Amino acid sequence: IRFQGKLYFDEKQTPVRMLGTILDITEFKRLQQQKDDFISIASHELKTPMTSLKASIQILEKLIKTGTSPDKVSTFIQKANTSLLKMQHLIESLLNVSRISAGQLGLQKTSFNLAALINDSCEHVRMTSDQELVVTGDANLDVYADSAKIEQVVINLLNNAVKYAPASRQIIITIDKRGNVARVSVQDFGEGIAQDKIPHLFERYYRVDSTGLQYSGLGLGLYISAEIIERHGGKIGVKSESGKGSTFWFTLPIHN
Ligand code: ADP
Repeated sequence: IRFQGKLYFDEKQTPVRMLGTILDITEFKRLQQQKDDFISIASHELKTPMTSLKASIQILEKLIKTGTSPDKVSTFIQKANTSLLKMQHLIESLLNVSRISAGQLGLQKTSFNLAALINDSCEHVRMTSDQELVVTGDANLDVYADSAKIEQVVINLLNNAVKYAPASRQIIITIDKRGNVARVSVQDFGEGIAQDKIPHLFERYYRVDSTGLQYSGLGLGLYISAEIIERHGGKIGVKSESGKGSTFWFTLPIHN
């Protein structure tokens, strides 16, 4: 609690009146703390791929000097590339959060084939994961949307499936047409999510403490994904069963 004000005295210097405001700064302090925690987590999240990128470059330098085989060199170039992609994805997320806060998440819409975009996103995720990604459903659906942002949504959902369902050998991505919308679902066979946590998943900074905290993350992926999908006039949601896995899905209006 913070007090700001003034005391008034009579001619005998006895205080007779006090005027001022009492400010409850608990919420202010909580937000400040949240901001500090966020900066520290975000810096750590950036530092990890950066350290690994630095290590790859140092190894590459040595390998090139000693004339090592191109195969070995190429492995480390791949590693460096993976670290760069992680950093790029993280920075893109941070930028998107500021754009959302400022009401400036602009959309650049074009018409594109949904299956092609999903296959590209799978290629991207395969660079960092061994799990099998299977794409099924309607390969001919076109949507009118911001392809870079939709790709971000798909990559977020795929990365989450890979990260939070490591025991799930397969991840199934299904594309289908339901009335006048296209629906994409990402199904994993991992631990699933407790029902009481589900309503919070799409909130900013939210992470499930029982599963989320042992993995790296900022609690922004689903928040950003929801904003992107809703800005397109689509819907996003999840169905999950503890011990059986989760299916995250979103819809987009179909381009005729
Ligand atoms: P982050 O992955 O950075 O924590 P997200 O917004 O992408 O942020 O996810 C929020 C939380 O939702 C995660 O911390 C995790 O606890 C939970 N979650 C997301 N996807 C899955 C999934 N496929 N299976 C289980 N839990 C998940």
